[in-house]
Amino acid sequence: MFILDCMTTQIVFSDEFNKHDTADHPENADRLYVMLDALEQTSFYNTLQFIKPEMISEKLLYEVHSAEMIEKIKEISKQGDSWIDLDTYVSKSDYETARLAAGGVLQVCRAVINGDAQNAYALVRPPGHHASQERSMGFCLFNNAGIAAHELAKKRKKILIFDHDVHHGNGTQSIFYSRKDVMYMSFHLSPHYPGTGDACEIGQDAGKGYTINAPLGFGHDERGLSQLFDEIFLPITQQFKPDLIIVSAGYDSHHADPLGGLKLSANFFGEMIRRLQDIQPRIVCTLEGGYNLQWLGKCFISQLGQLVSHPERFEDTIKGNDDVSSIIKTLKKELKECWEL
Ligand SMILES: [Zn+2]
Repeated sequence: MFILDCMTTQIVFSDEFNKHDTADHPENADRLYVMLDALEQTSFYNTLQFIKPEMISEKLLYEVHSAEMIEKIKEISKQGDSWIDLDTYVSKSDYETARLAAGGVLQVCRAVINGDAQNAYALVRPPGHHASQERSMGFCLFNNAGIAAHELAKKRKKILIFDHDVHHGNGTQSIFYSRKDVMYMSFHLSPHYPGTGDACEIGQDAGKGYTINAPLGFGHDERGLSQLFDEIFLPITQQFKPDLIIVSAGYDSHHADPLGGLKLSANFFGEMIRRLQDIQPRIVCTLEGGYNLQWLGKCFISQLGQLVSHPERFEDTIKGNDDVSSIIKTLKKELKECWEL
């Protein structure tokens, strides 16, 4: 029984997430419908364990986000259909919906840490990685991965948040910038929204060396990324020894994404999981961006297939810029006092 449980991949999902929706916005309910459609067509669908999310407690929410920010979302969500900045909307009941998303991520993280599941995928919306302690922004209301990591860190667990969204996760970075119990590691397009994530941003005080940023220019492909894994991401992960890896799974780094500019193939999303699994198989992916509805399902299945040990490959090859020598050189210099690279 123990062995069977251990091999389980959990999926946390609720129809409630699609209450967060507004016409003509790229981050809309169709995203989850496309992903669910793709999921139903897989040969491993029946092996997955679906679980329903529970709302994150207000107590925990207040530990990560400011009272002012929380009260603002709570108030706006009573009426709904309002915008808190130029690109971030709040639907009716979003205070509950966003807490459900954060709660779902924490539930599956706990299951994986406790050995009740081998790994998990949180099919949740709204996304979270741009939400800082004080501000909801960039389509994100509360920081789903950050809240889960914060809670697990209280139990003396070391957490790596690996962010492959095309945008830098400024919110997640800022929450943990002075901490060494939660490492934030990201590659992203630069210059691009939200403007943060320079290689010299490596954390401060006790957190120095526990924030890793690889900003990449337009058109970088997975050959360069692969080299970054070999020379920077994997050696640091090996030395950090996380108890759990939370992947901020943004598929807008795919070459066909309308909001992107990197050139990753759908298959590379699975490949990144394979590489991380070699070091720590306890992995929870949580949905962030990804706005090309023709490719979103494939990117997701590439990743999930790797989690369930049933790798899927898609016809999708693309070449771009593979030269990452200068960013690797810079990172080795920035991080030389912190890690053996
Ligand atoms: Zn994004």
